[in-house]
Amino acid sequence: MRTPPVTVHSRNWQRSRVLVLNATFQALCEVPAERAVTLVAIGAAESVADHEPRVPIRAQHLEIPLPVTIRLFEYVYVPHTATVTDTSRATYAGVFRRDRHSCAYCADQAATTIDHVVPRSRGGTNSWANLVACCRPCNQRKADRTPQEAGMALLWEPKVPNHIEKAQHRIWRRLAAI
Ligand SMILES: [Zn+2]
Repeated sequence: MRTPPVTVHSRNWQRSRVLVLNATFQALCEVPAERAVTLVAIGAAESVADHEPRVPIRAQHLEIPLPVTIRLFEYVYVPHTATVTDTSRATYAGVFRRDRHSCAYCADQAATTIDHVVPRSRGGTNSWANLVACCRPCNQRKADRTPQEAGMALLWEPKVPNHIEKAQHRIWRRLAAI
């Protein structure tokens, strides 16, 4: 079920979100409307699409129509993999690094295989949340089953590694500093 859209007006507009485009018109992220209005008011961005119907906002002694999409004048460099989530594609080497070659089921330090938590045959993907380092005996025991079916619990929740998440946050901070 979808929640009905909230009517945006001059009293609650701060709660709306605005899409930010790079100078190249590539979508970057969403920011709170207040931040977007400031970027327009200080001349760092222009409105590409205003809210319909028009919601006039007072900012920096100017009256600006509330935007729904703005475009930055200055190009912000964003690495190709801009958004990293647990469902993002992971490499086997990256998973071994994250898990320090420790088996996700028995903590054995000599994990040499990669386990798909949800087996590939069930649609399990090569994502950060679905791949774990695994020792050979555990991998053979689990076989083509989910952890529940195999009665084997994950010792930790597989996630995007910290250093990748940090790189992502650096991008947001750079954006916030414009
Ligand atoms: Zn193991």
